[in-house]
Amino acid sequence: MGIKNNIEKFQAELKPVKVRLIAVSKTHSVDKIREAYESGQRIFGENRVQELTDKQPQLPADIEWHLIGHLQRNKVKYIVPFISLIHSVDSRKLLEEINTQGEKVNRVIHCLLQVYIAREETKFGFDISEVEQLFQSDIASLKFIDIDGLMGIATLTENKEQIRSEFKSLKDLFDRLKQQHLPSNSQMKELSMGMSADYKIAIEEGSTFVRVGTAIFGGRENNLKI
Ligand SMILES: *Cc1c(COP(=O)(O)O)cnc(C)c1O
Repeated sequence: MGIKNNIEKFQAELKPVKVRLIAVSKTHSVDKIREAYESGQRIFGENRVQELTDKQPQLPADIEWHLIGHLQRNKVKYIVPFISLIHSVDSRKLLEEINTQGEKVNRVIHCLLQVYIAREETKFGFDISEVEQLFQSDIASLKFIDIDGLMGIATLTENKEQIRSEFKSLKDLFDRLKQQHLPSNSQMKELSMGMSADYKIAIEEGSTFVRVGTAIFGGRENNLKI
């Protein structure tokens, strides 16, 4: 099975349920990304700013680039000119910096809030209560930000019921927020959850974006990491 077959298989599986595929191309070459592009894929996800800004100019301009990894505030300026969606906003300060840099290039930057749902210590993200507090605050004043929804990463485990319950906790928060009066620049329309190993569960639990790397491009070689 090559990249083309994998893309076609995912598109056939996701289209009927209206879930969009993000092809996670981190560590993979521009040639492999082009192969996926030629199979019809248009949304690609990267987790490092340096790698993203290296690849982006070498590839077609109609690709929608999504940042899915932790973003340092001093690197926001490099991606605001072209980024389509930042999945990994994990602090109020980062949101403010994205707003500042968005204003400089006169672009409203679409963001998701990354919520910590896993039972692991190392993951970034807001706690559920912090997200609720954020929406009670004055984020409507951040004119160059649109919050489109939430993102979460489940624990890396074989325990499917644990994964399901983590996705459910994110979906519950999403639904609760949806029923509230949200700030004018915030909506709950996108829920980014699910990766190669757990995307089927994520879809059953209400995902709108799945982020799939290995199941499309094959394994990643660590020494290719930039
Ligand atoms: C790498 C990565 C993915 C894709 O993981 P696979 O298991 O290769 O599908 C999805 N989301 C995030 C945040 C990632 O860093």
